[in-house]
Amino acid sequence: MKKFFCLLVLLMVSASGVFADELRLDKETQYQKKIMQIGFRILNANQIDKRMTFYYSTNKDVNAVTYLSSKQIAVYKGILPFLDSDDELAAVIAHEISHGIEAHKGLWRRIVMSSNSKAYEFKADKNGVDLMVNAGYNPVAMIVMLNKISAEPCWFEVSSSHPGGIQRLVSIYEYIYSKYPEYLIDNDYKNNLYYQNFLLTTKEDRKEIREKYLKKNTLPVNSKK
Ligand SMILES: [Zn+2]
Repeated sequence: MKKFFCLLVLLMVSASGVFADELRLDKETQYQKKIMQIGFRILNANQIDKRMTFYYSTNKDVNAVTYLSSKQIAVYKGILPFLDSDDELAAVIAHEISHGIEAHKGLWRRIVMSSNSKAYEFKADKNGVDLMVNAGYNPVAMIVMLNKISAEPCWFEVSSSHPGGIQRLVSIYEYIYSKYPEYLIDNDYKNNLYYQNFLLTTKEDRKEIREKYLKKNTLPVNSKK
């Protein structure tokens, strides 16, 4: 009997070993695990004591959403082909966690968010940058990720809930420039195709930012960079 028990324990141990190391997880399970790990890493690193959960959704839209009442964050299948690193996925999730934090502030805040969603998008980008930095992710990935998916807005999209175009990217750049300039000096993304395209299409905007900080004599980074 004792022998049987030992054998059973042995089998259970080896079975859990199989689960941890050898079981081939299908792609969707891998996405689910990756999304959860990054989500919880950001929550823990930022000491966010509000509950949120993270899901992979098979929706093909290029998007991610936060369900304001349940604080569930879903990353859509459609956005994954646009992401090239954990940092870029962390940028998507950090933006959504910012919405989740706002949603935790109560029903009234959720109503204000729904009616003024454009302002909250800009806010979620900037809070998302803070959350990324605190969790050890490179915040420039927020610009890189958005440069791939943000089309220029058409006139009829002016009131859209998703501000498109370069304005949103420039405001993230300025936030990083003023608060975390070290990430813009010899940054990991300097040879990245999508970051280079951002630099190319925002020459004038970045010049204005540089001049603004130069005028205030609070230039945070070497003006040549
Ligand atoms: Zn958003």
